[in-house]
Amino acid sequence: MNGAQDNRRGITILGSTGSIGKNTAELIEARPDLYRVEALVANSSVDLLADQARRLKPRMVVVAEEGAYGALRDALGGTGIQVAAGAGAVVEAAQLPAEWVMAAIVGAAGLAPTMAAVRRGAVIGLANKECLVCAGSLMMAEVAAHGATLLPVDSEHSAIFQVLDADQRDTVEKIVLTASGGPFRSRTLDEMASMTPEQAVAHPNWSMGAKISVDSATMMNKGLELIEAHHLFAMPEDRIDIVVHPQSVIHSMVSYVDGSVLAQLGSPDMRTPIAYALGWPKRIYAPAPRLDLTAIGQLTFEAPDPIRFPALRLARRALQTGGSAPTVLNAANEVAVQAFLSRSIGFLDIAKVVEQTLEATENAALSSIEDVLAQDRCARDCAWNIIKRGRGF
Ligand code: NAD
Ligand code: MG
Repeated sequence: MNGAQDNRRGITILGSTGSIGKNTAELIEARPDLYRVEALVANSSVDLLADQARRLKPRMVVVAEEGAYGALRDALGGTGIQVAAGAGAVVEAAQLPAEWVMAAIVGAAGLAPTMAAVRRGAVIGLANKECLVCAGSLMMAEVAAHGATLLPVDSEHSAIFQVLDADQRDTVEKIVLTASGGPFRSRTLDEMASMTPEQAVAHPNWSMGAKISVDSATMMNKGLELIEAHHLFAMPEDRIDIVVHPQSVIHSMVSYVDGSVLAQLGSPDMRTPIAYALGWPKRIYAPAPRLDLTAIGQLTFEAPDPIRFPALRLARRALQTGGSAPTVLNAANEVAVQAFLSRSIGFLDIAKVVEQTLEATENAALSSIEDVLAQDRCARDCAWNIIKRGRGF
């Protein structure tokens, strides 16, 4: 910049090669006049990460997987971009002084780097719901203590954030989270028992990473979002409803004491909530398809089925129980989804592994992030043991 002051906003993308990360990178790349990139972080997708780095010219690029370091270093040789690998380097990347951080790593693996960004008071676009599920109260306390800003990227929470009247919190009666119902919304239990990973990840409305796609199919995603909403909006569990809305046009609602219900609508395209978090407190352009209500014709709603989707009940109960229960729920679910994706267990076994892990684990109070990580590890071991013993689901 020839010594001229660079007023562009510094951006870091944690999980840049994923579904949310790629959409974020696309929005950033379109406005080089507004944004400069501090760091890009991914697990192991070297080719895509190196390609993003050549285009976005970050200061630092990190892969979590240490074995991928050599390939990334070679791919970025001569660019002057700093390359690093390993879990410690992922946290270092989050510590670089970017004003805005997209937290889009999948799973509890995102907790440590997201906390690192929280602790330096950054503005954070939060896609990684699992970190709020497993460490919600501790994380919200740190957000307040360090003056960080959490801007929800999950479409439902972005919707609530947009229609929640923060100055009149006492007039909010409840939050209504909408759910698409996922690819198995109309399947019988018998049919669900034999569903394959390919069928589970084929979401009717949204294009997403594998883990969240399976979570949508079990509806654990909505359970995780219930816990996420509880923490983000300080809303008691019994004032958060879930309604199945297969068209995914109404992204969520807030109802008020006067009977008014405010909703946010849009096409099911994550570039809209990502752009909202990126531009906040202003709105910026996003190239998402415009909503055409006459083409859609009908918006429909139904109650979620607790028999076919037991994950919702498990998540609600974990939130009511508190302590380490949500941490255990999340860890067991991550393990079970991974086991399902590698065909070690069936689709309906996912919720069974989660339930049995919760039953086998003693509830504990969590007073630090280290406590959370210890409970997370313990629950993962327990869930893997249940899967190995398995057979008798
Ligand atoms: P994805 O699987 O497509 O991408 C995950 C990203 O995280 C990748 O870049 C991967 O390399 C990186 N990653 C994985 N493990 C890592 C580790 N240990 N260290 C560093 N990086 C790691 O997932 P996604 O669909 O983009 O979802 C990301 C997060 O956003 C999830 O928490 C998901 O629940 C949430 N979310 C996604 C959507 C969506 O539409 N995809 C919507 C709402 C919320
Ligand atoms: Mg969502």
